[in-house]
Amino acid sequence: MAEQDARAIGAVKRDGDVTIIAGPCSVESLEQMREVAACLKELGVAVMRGGAYKPRSSPFSFQGLEEEGLKIMRQAADEHGLLVVTEVTDSAHAEIIDEYADIIQIGTRNMANFSLLKKIGQVTAESGKPVVFKRGMAATIEEWLQASNYLTMFGNENVILCERGIRTFETAYRFTLDITAVPVVKSLSLLPIIVDVSHPAGRADLVPAISRAAVAVGADGIMVEVHPNPREALCDGPQSLDIAGIRSLVTELKTLARAVDKGLV
Ligand code: PEP
Ligand code: MN
Repeated sequence: MAEQDARAIGAVKRDGDVTIIAGPCSVESLEQMREVAACLKELGVAVMRGGAYKPRSSPFSFQGLEEEGLKIMRQAADEHGLLVVTEVTDSAHAEIIDEYADIIQIGTRNMANFSLLKKIGQVTAESGKPVVFKRGMAATIEEWLQASNYLTMFGNENVILCERGIRTFETAYRFTLDITAVPVVKSLSLLPIIVDVSHPAGRADLVPAISRAAVAVGADGIMVEVHPNPREALCDGPQSLDIAGIRSLVTELKTLARAVDKGLV
């Protein structure tokens, strides 16, 4: 097994330390990714996120830099010794994503795209490359766990479940974070579960509070969007932390993790 794959497989552990995965919604430039990567390295965060193929609700929104984005993210990560997570939106991109990413993400809009799940299960069967599998925004926990079998059925058991908020009647924020899903999933599955704290919030000011909730409830990690200049972000700027924001969040969560007998990586 490649050394990088072994590192990626160990990055998020069930009931181990709390793993932070941070980075912009979308890869926009090498300068942007370098700035984020340098900050994460300094904070001891080992996994950087960034979207190169973006599943946008509107076809007129920024769709991502595609392969150029993958190259930029890989370069910035390698310069700082970080692992990268990026989303696959289409079976046709499975091989190219597999080439650049250490961890592959399946987004909420594709949770029930079973042909994509099978393809990713097949592409990662040998390497055991971890797959972050987000809950569909309108899926029950049972549907989500059942769908995870499409990824694992070819032999890759390294699936990381990710709760990212579901649709409810509430409109005061973007999605309703189902925090109860964390202990429920832990009672039903042996897979690690992380919480995306940015997409349910939709607003950066809510991110610290729901991050604390995620750590306190026992999540194995959090995924958080960070941008050097959120006001100019091409995607999800309002919910993105800036560099000062991620610094203070990591400091705060270290203390909180200690209170639940965990470390923060
Ligand atoms: C993302 O992580 O940028 C993303 C699009 O997330 P979700 O699939 O949860 O909306
Ligand atoms: Mn986003």
